[in-house]
Amino acid sequence: MRSVALANQKGGVGKTTTAVHLAHGLAIAGRRVALLDLDPQGNATVALQEMAVDLESDGALALLRPVTDNLWLLPSPGAERAVDRFAGVDVTKLLQLARSLEEQGIDWLLVDCPPRMDQWGWAGLQLCGEVLVPVQPEFFAMHGLSQMLGTLETAQAQFPGKGLLLGVLVTLWDQREPVAKDVVADLRRNLGPKMLETVILRDSALVEAASYGKTVFEYRPYSKAALCYGELVREVVHGGSSLG
Ligand code: ADP
Ligand code: MG
Repeated sequence: MRSVALANQKGGVGKTTTAVHLAHGLAIAGRRVALLDLDPQGNATVALQEMAVDLESDGALALLRPVTDNLWLLPSPGAERAVDRFAGVDVTKLLQLARSLEEQGIDWLLVDCPPRMDQWGWAGLQLCGEVLVPVQPEFFAMHGLSQMLGTLETAQAQFPGKGLLLGVLVTLWDQREPVAKDVVADLRRNLGPKMLETVILRDSALVEAASYGKTVFEYRPYSKAALCYGELVREVVHGGSSLG
């Protein structure tokens, strides 16, 4: 089982959107996917709520909510009621859950982390072998990113075999913005192969889809966003990008 945390201590960079679309994209590609919503605010849970259909499930999967073919969601408690962000997380239980999901044939575990490295954020890193860091191409991007990469180094030292950088993913890219273009070029120079080839363009279809509780794969399959996230699925599964 591959396990990937979507993490960045900055909010609004596309963690949840990427978690949800990577999860659904992998499921469409035939992989069995479990998405854990570790953000007490429960955005990923809300973003998928209208896609629920009843599927049979058992064992550890019974703790999860079936969303659509091949996709299960562990909802955030915060989606149903207000949760104190300082509330504890039972990491041992989550690790047990991850193990039994693997035993039940889940191919990919995706974890949507909160925009802070609090207990929930650290739990996400402890659960996952790999970390995908979404970043918005704006002036301070590199600064925030260095901080996040430092956090990952600490996690790798503390939890061997966990928290390896799968890649940095540029999201919310508006190609008409000259500054954004410079920032992306800068990121590529600084990060080299640590940066994924896929970039996620800014597309209002994502905001609309989320407001209907759907992904763009369902809501608008021919949108720019669906194309970008389809490419991301391909890159994380096979490596490299066909769009270059
Ligand atoms: P995070 O989880 O990092 O806080 P979100 O995924 O919730 O970030 O994204 C923040 C906001 O930006 C949401 O309203 C989301 O719908 C919107 N958004 C995310 N990615 C894109 C994109 N590529 N184009 C347009 N809007 C986007
Ligand atoms: Mg989020």
